[in-house]
Amino acid sequence: MNELNAPRTAAGWRDCPASQQPAYPDADALKAVSDDLRSRPPLVFAGEVDALSTQMAAAGRGRAFVLMGGDCAESFADNTADNIRLKLQTILQMAAVLTYGASTPVVKIGRIAGQYAKPRSADTETRDGVTLPSYRGDSVNDHAFTLAARVPDPARMLNAYLRAGTTLNLIRSFTMGGYADLREVHSWNRGFTANPAYARFESFAEEIDRAMRFMEAAGVDFDALRQVDFYAAHEALLLEYEDAMIREDSRSGRLYDTSAHFLWVGERTRGAEHAHVALLRGVRNPVGVKVGPTTAPAELVALIDRLNPHGDAGRLTLITRMGADRIREALPALIEAVRADGRPVTWVTDPMHGNTITSDNGYKTRRFDTVMDEVRGFFEVHRALGTVPGGIHVELTGDDVTEVLGGGEHIEEATLGERYETLVDPRLNHQQSLEMAFEVAEMLRG
Ligand code: PEP
Ligand code: MN
Repeated sequence: MNELNAPRTAAGWRDCPASQQPAYPDADALKAVSDDLRSRPPLVFAGEVDALSTQMAAAGRGRAFVLMGGDCAESFADNTADNIRLKLQTILQMAAVLTYGASTPVVKIGRIAGQYAKPRSADTETRDGVTLPSYRGDSVNDHAFTLAARVPDPARMLNAYLRAGTTLNLIRSFTMGGYADLREVHSWNRGFTANPAYARFESFAEEIDRAMRFMEAAGVDFDALRQVDFYAAHEALLLEYEDAMIREDSRSGRLYDTSAHFLWVGERTRGAEHAHVALLRGVRNPVGVKVGPTTAPAELVALIDRLNPHGDAGRLTLITRMGADRIREALPALIEAVRADGRPVTWVTDPMHGNTITSDNGYKTRRFDTVMDEVRGFFEVHRALGTVPGGIHVELTGDDVTEVLGGGEHIEEATLGERYETLVDPRLNHQQSLEMAFEVAEMLRG
């Protein structure tokens, strides 16, 4: 195992403009927490991070497919064993279906163990004449609408670190200890297709059954299928936290952000000359950038210059989030510009964030069909241009929530209130997530 203990920092980000940062009232308290974090063990190791870079590179070439999924915002309250297990189970079930559909390895990455900081459209929120700081995620403040809850508290960064660590510990146990055995995962999916709402996927599940029996009869080493690689990712939003988690790999002398394997910059903070990009420029992790429909081709080339100047395959993933109604017209010019540049990227679709609507009864929601339409548009555009659709990035939970409209079980506006639990954006529930996986698997088969 590599030593990653020497605290270091990525040069220069403090000199760049930084948006979406909390206004901490007590600079000394912030410094004390940051210093404490800097002295603590890394959450992930350089070797794991490099292995993920290799897999992201494979996805960029069409030799693997990326599945990235989890909550919009994790919360401390939901950081329970059951929640982690159900989310992991959902992602593994999706991955089993996609692996069969793509006939390639699926790179499994959770928006988990650190997805605790959120960008917001306004710095403050007003209710009934009272104005307070916006909720920015559990690593910054509390969701409750009181002044005490909303004042940013740096001690929450330590809480986030500890929860991320225990989450990763449980994930490592599940994925290394046989719980994630492919045979087991497949048997869960049989339960899904037995539901009449999803019966149209039954023949697909039967094909997988046959493939499993074939492997077993042919003497495939199922012990090798008992363990899976599972990676953690989050938005690198809270600069003080990410900076405090940077460590130097004593073997190579390189810097890694050891808060997660994969970090991305959001649509609101992705300026090529801004602090978030400057921080990620300084670390070796594979990184992502969210790309909205108004992105200019030159902005992408500037981001490649900053984040992947040498054109290392696997280093940079572009996560497009265009909206189903815009992707077919907005994506081609961006792909052409990147292709003309020549440095490799891995293209992933986030079909969630361009398709958020407010229901007539006031819920922030998304329609399952619209989300699927964006995924379809992503495949269409890449296939038309001869480039590689490398993966999907989705907001999901393993629970039976009612936050996204539609899907086989027909969640309707009137049903949204039954189990609407997200603190920020609406998530696919367990069934909707599996339905998406079956549909994407069909797209992957062409
Ligand atoms: C998110 O992923 O939750 C998010 C805020 O996305 P974006 O930056 O693409 O809006
Ligand atoms: Mn979100």
